[in-house]
Amino acid sequence: MEKYTLSDLPYDYSALEPYISGKIMELHHDKHHAAYVTGANQALEQIAEASEKGQLGTVNLLQKNLAFNVGGHNNHTVFWNNMAPESEPHGELLEAIKDQFGSLDKFKAYFTAVAIGVQGSGWAVLAWDSINRKLLPIQMYDHQGNLPIGQVPILMLDLWEHAYYLDYLNVRADYIKAWWNIVNWVDINDRFKEAQGK
Ligand code: MN
Repeated sequence: MEKYTLSDLPYDYSALEPYISGKIMELHHDKHHAAYVTGANQALEQIAEASEKGQLGTVNLLQKNLAFNVGGHNNHTVFWNNMAPESEPHGELLEAIKDQFGSLDKFKAYFTAVAIGVQGSGWAVLAWDSINRKLLPIQMYDHQGNLPIGQVPILMLDLWEHAYYLDYLNVRADYIKAWWNIVNWVDINDRFKEAQGK
């Protein structure tokens, strides 16, 4: 059985300072993200074992564990690559954002409100809706909830308290404002093109 694995960050822990501290990045990647990888592999092993024994009474619980942990793993993998120390808005995604949301500033205000408004733990996601072929901002709960089918992640922002509490305490808005400085426009533009099959 092929296992999920944790990749290294594409930059040093401290590369995103002063916006996100190296301490948060280290804990977030090495402890939190790692735990989702472990959890995903455990769920897979338990499902395989239950299937082997023909004892599938626990399948609902195992599927929930699998979705939560694979969600956590995939979300963080996108999130790390969505960030970079220095990147200016550019490219086809920027043009699509202007077309659909009016301007980059209007989109940022909208996405910021989406992110601030996520209740409890979750994510703000700018997705490519592959069914309707348009950009769709989404509030995702935990690592997998509230998500319509057919969404390809372009830009994801982690809004769990573990992502910002050490630096920003309870002030999520300050974290989001800082995060805009480290959005990796090369990566999100590439994801936008790939999502459209370009
Ligand atoms: Mn996280």
